[in-house]
Amino acid sequence: MAGGYNNFTLSIYLTVGDLMRMFGDRADAEGTEGAEGAENGAAEKQFAFFQKHLKFTKVYIEIFRSDETPQYIMDKAKAFFTNKGVAFATGIMPVARNKGKGGPFCYTDPETEKQFDELFAKMAANFDEIMIDDYLATNCTCPGCVAAKGDMTWPEFRTGLMAGFCQNHIIAPARKANPNVKITLKYPTWHESYQYLGYNTEMQPHMFEHIYAGTETRHTTYSLFRNPRYTSYSLLRYLRSLPPFNNRGAWFDNIACANDVGVYLEQAELTLLGGCDEVTLFCWGILHEKEEIGALGILLERLDGDIASLGQPAGIPAYLPFHSTGEDHVFDFLGMCGIPLYPDAVFPDDGAVLLTAASAHDASLYEKVRAHLENGNDVFVTAGCLEKMQDFGFYDFTGMRVTHRSQAAAEFGGFDGSGWSADVTYRCAAKPVTLPVIDVMLNNCDLRAVQMRESMPNVLLAYSRYANGRLFVLNVPDSFADYYEIPGEIMGFVRKSFSRDLPLWFEGETKISLFLYDNRSAAIRSFLPHGSAIMLHIAGDIGGLDIGGKKIAPLYKKEGETVFRLALEPNKLVIFAY
Ligand SMILES: [Zn+2]
Repeated sequence: MAGGYNNFTLSIYLTVGDLMRMFGDRADAEGTEGAEGAENGAAEKQFAFFQKHLKFTKVYIEIFRSDETPQYIMDKAKAFFTNKGVAFATGIMPVARNKGKGGPFCYTDPETEKQFDELFAKMAANFDEIMIDDYLATNCTCPGCVAAKGDMTWPEFRTGLMAGFCQNHIIAPARKANPNVKITLKYPTWHESYQYLGYNTEMQPHMFEHIYAGTETRHTTYSLFRNPRYTSYSLLRYLRSLPPFNNRGAWFDNIACANDVGVYLEQAELTLLGGCDEVTLFCWGILHEKEEIGALGILLERLDGDIASLGQPAGIPAYLPFHSTGEDHVFDFLGMCGIPLYPDAVFPDDGAVLLTAASAHDASLYEKVRAHLENGNDVFVTAGCLEKMQDFGFYDFTGMRVTHRSQAAAEFGGFDGSGWSADVTYRCAAKPVTLPVIDVMLNNCDLRAVQMRESMPNVLLAYSRYANGRLFVLNVPDSFADYYEIPGEIMGFVRKSFSRDLPLWFEGETKISLFLYDNRSAAIRSFLPHGSAIMLHIAGDIGGLDIGGKKIAPLYKKEGETVFRLALEPNKLVIFAY
């Protein structure tokens, strides 16, 4: 097998069904007659397809997904991939078959304990590495689970139940069978629901050798996830932020991508921008002979070179405490508008931070924010966070208060100065945007972006000073997707306010994302179906930019920034150093 990519390992996941179709009794009939290894005809044919397009060097050979892979199939698969020089590990999708219907197990059932003890002992005896696909979750509300839950909430009960189950019925039996086995726990895309279904991001990463990210955001209108595309990047950042920092990879698939090759490929780009050692494609059977694999091969070849220049991902943390939910994925919508946010399970020591309704889950949030402001930092709080905290100390920081009224209006203003001069920008959205009404104490705050309506100006972004810092309040549309409707010029004022501690920001339309790295490199990804020019502001005196071999001279220098005009291609990623 030829070598792989330089900057990541590419793996392909084979489900139980894939293995049956490749190596089962009926598979040979579908294979190429007279091909080398005739008894593996179907396998040879399928392998040749993937080898033609992708530099993959590893596969996951699944042992269980409602059904179990028979031992003779497992042995054939291991021999086949050994012969090809492809590394392999095993995998499991922990879903049960109840009356013919797949679904999660009941984890208070002693039968489940027995089944997992046996499965993990068997996997560890046959393999040194195990991947757990992302349904180590429970929604069981059987009488036994209800009784065991008692007075706890489902998140309290299930996060405890699943952590204990992982230790006693996954890790313990696997270790007993093979002391060297390494187990990776893959987390699903839907992080807002983790705790309700028992995923424990506080304890599990310490228990497993590695964790892994499901970055399959799919078609963002027609998949039923509530994820913008940016989640393919930000989920990886979140899982990388979990102590002890052992996320090692990410995977995505072509399910619910509307047969749109571009939708599929965007997931690959954003996954690689998040930084990971391994990318896994799910799964062999549904990717075989699909045109997106040819396109993916070309893209990965190019990205392998392009991402080599990127350092460690940077940006502005959105504080997402363990087991929290609230204004789910709002930072991803802001990421789609060019604010380089990433969710972080740990409150930062210094620098700007975004707090959402989920951040209020931290019982010591007030003390943390007060210390952060006293240390001279910018703290951004969403309307949802302010609403939860305004009667728990935040009224000390600002007179702004979220009301229970909302307002729909299309006109917005953006201000660099006070907003009272002629140095202002007013723009209309294509349709009204509904925002909660935030009451202000006039002259207690500086307005930066405002929704305008007759005698009813409403905060989009404003700040109050407290001690040495600034507390910004960012309003949040009733539908988070309406951030995209706010005129780009106005969102430019929002980006600028977020960027005091950042090396660069831009003026331009929404649906353009910015990714920052710690080595003076950056990436910009347009999700627009048309070209779009942006004004890129970089701190300091910059001579020029080299973007994809094209030299770009500065337009002007002002207030310590060098400004460049960049014409972005539609639906395209650019990576550059500055
Ligand atoms: Zn149950």
